[in-house]
Amino acid sequence: MERQDDKSALATTRARIAAAATLADRKAGDVTLVAVSKTQGPEAIEPLLAAGQRVFGENRVQEAAAKWPDLCARHPDVVLHLVGQLQSNKAEEAVTLFDAIHSVDRPSLVKALGAAITKTGRRPDCFVQVNIGEEEQKGGCAIADLPALLAQAKDAGLSVVGLMAVPPAGVEAAPYFALLAKLARDHGLAELSMGMSDDLETAVMLGATQVRVGTALFGARGTAA
Ligand SMILES: *Cc1c(COP(=O)(O)O)cnc(C)c1O
Repeated sequence: MERQDDKSALATTRARIAAAATLADRKAGDVTLVAVSKTQGPEAIEPLLAAGQRVFGENRVQEAAAKWPDLCARHPDVVLHLVGQLQSNKAEEAVTLFDAIHSVDRPSLVKALGAAITKTGRRPDCFVQVNIGEEEQKGGCAIADLPALLAQAKDAGLSVVGLMAVPPAGVEAAPYFALLAKLARDHGLAELSMGMSDDLETAVMLGATQVRVGTALFGARGTAA
């Protein structure tokens, strides 16, 4: 997806969210735009901060720990979300650094996060990531394991607010978004983290409350802006 300059890329993305929300008779304000800034340096992030964006997503604890403390010192109202896979041995660092964690997907991680919450007194919003397309290589808990994992998370003291998924690539995402929305409804969870640069309208129309957008805001990763 082509990137415009930073400010208009942000405005365009917000307009896309608003248009989809309006079509679905939802309020644009009920959808949080998580700007996924993985691989982007401060020079790419600062313009979005200047344009008023405050919610950012990263996929690696180490990268976020190196990059964000400086930026957060200048912008204390920044809200940081972890959207990528989390190793149990980084749970404490993740709980300390992030306000929300979108990738809770297995009992060992639930256990580690529970211990980290007890130790640090920090209690980030947690999303249970579901392997919604039942794909071999993909992170996320199996649909069949979701009820047990949610129960474990509750017992461990996690604040589970919703579900997250990344649907299979190259196929229509709508059925997977609809399935994730149904699972969230079945379990009484209000938040739905789904939709990225290419499919955020579909996700918003099917109930997304958090869209995770990288490329549409920052341009392609790994190339100079
Ligand atoms: C990178 C990433 C995104 C953003 O994807 P884009 O296609 O660049 O918008 C969203 N969610 C997760 C989990 C990611 O790792």
